[in-house]
Amino acid sequence: MTPLLPTPDHYLQNLITMTSPEAKRMWRQAIKEHFNCQCVYCGEHYELHELTLDHVVPRFYGGETTTRNLVPSCRKCNQNKGTSNWLSWMRETFGITPRERLILSHIK
Ligand SMILES: [Zn+2]
Repeated sequence: MTPLLPTPDHYLQNLITMTSPEAKRMWRQAIKEHFNCQCVYCGEHYELHELTLDHVVPRFYGGETTTRNLVPSCRKCNQNKGTSNWLSWMRETFGITPRERLILSHIK
């Protein structure tokens, strides 16, 4: 299990991490593993390489590329959510689900 750290730079402090791209890869993998390789929006499980990372608050609205603002998402959900408010979009698409709490506790 890869430790979940706030940014790729934090992985550079790990002695086994030699390069910046490797740190970024570890970071992305840790976020996906933290959520058991599940798309936080639809709840389906995927292989690591099938999941994207979604900015909960879109970059368009100033959302940062940090662990607290990134969640694993399947391509379909990532694309459909787009720049919508995540909670409104999720409720319109899936109704109220326990996954809302997962996201809330991750982003706070
Ligand atoms: Zn999904």
